[in-house]
Amino acid sequence: MPQNLIEVRGVNKTFTVNRGWLFHRTTASTKAVNDVSLDIRKGEILGCVGGSGSGKSTLGRIIMRLIEPDSGQIRYDGKDLRALSPEEMRMYRRRLQIVFQDPLQSLNPRRTVAENVARPLLNFGVSQATANRRVDELLDLVGLDPTQSYRYPHEYSGGQCQRIAIARALALEPEFLFLDEPVSALDVSIQAQILNLLTDLQKKLDLTFLFVSHDLKIVKQFCDRTIVMYRGCVLETGSSEEVYRDPKHPFTRDFLGTVLHVRKDTRWEQAAERAEDLEGAAKGGSGCIYAGNCSECFTLCRQSAPSLTEIEGQRKVACFLHDGR
Ligand code: ADP
Repeated sequence: MPQNLIEVRGVNKTFTVNRGWLFHRTTASTKAVNDVSLDIRKGEILGCVGGSGSGKSTLGRIIMRLIEPDSGQIRYDGKDLRALSPEEMRMYRRRLQIVFQDPLQSLNPRRTVAENVARPLLNFGVSQATANRRVDELLDLVGLDPTQSYRYPHEYSGGQCQRIAIARALALEPEFLFLDEPVSALDVSIQAQILNLLTDLQKKLDLTFLFVSHDLKIVKQFCDRTIVMYRGCVLETGSSEEVYRDPKHPFTRDFLGTVLHVRKDTRWEQAAERAEDLEGAAKGGSGCIYAGNCSECFTLCRQSAPSLTEIEGQRKVACFLHDGR
């Protein structure tokens, strides 16, 4: 079995938001990541799937060290991230890069494509001449014409901008890419082209990916393994094929049904869905996080929370229906 590149152990993150002003101030807290442990193996594509607000981006950003967790441990290549020296931390930032959902927002509109892609290289002290050569190579690698790099991002389509963002993410020759919904803002035909490009790059450059998506179907096609998240918790893991073909957790089954048949895509529907979830959880108390909405919930599910338990091969599920009690 391939070695682990990243090991996450018992990571927690709660966001606290103050609402109102002075006397009417109320404080609300959201447990965005709740005791999450997972491994990302060298050279694999790990999919992280879940509804809006389930903590996928926060988890990825914690791994990237863009957000500090409240507790828990992250090891990269066997090294505890908190023990890294400033110089090691600089190298760590170089080895891990991110591709965002909206390429136009992630690129600087006032800089040409060449300047956007060259920026990380210049920040790391590479000379302008070397950076220019590398920009040409990178644009070629992602299927764009280097002779057009004097243009600005707004002159390119959404798919082409995502190619530019990928070229920029590859500039420092990283080992790991955190792909945060990289195709969600694109048309279906363009989605397929970008996913094919990412698959080719992953093989060619021997990269490791964490791919975040709300679409289990895309994750099944693109990722080797999948973790399913709900309200900050990992409810199920396994090979992408197995999770899609034979989902074990009632949430995964419901989620798959939603994605395949209903497609609740609008913000309003997602907000309503979240409100229902919170209500369900409040009724559930200290039990399973999905108890309030689960059609297969029984007494034990409302009394205690099931832990993520291995059921067969690589499959792990946090559900009392599968822990053999
Ligand atoms: P996802 O990527 O699955 O949509 P996120 O990780 O973005 O979920 O968010 C998980 C939860 O944490 C959400 O309820 C979100 O509102 C909350 N959250 C995320 N970032 C912040 C922040 N900076 N401040 C306050 N709450 C946040």
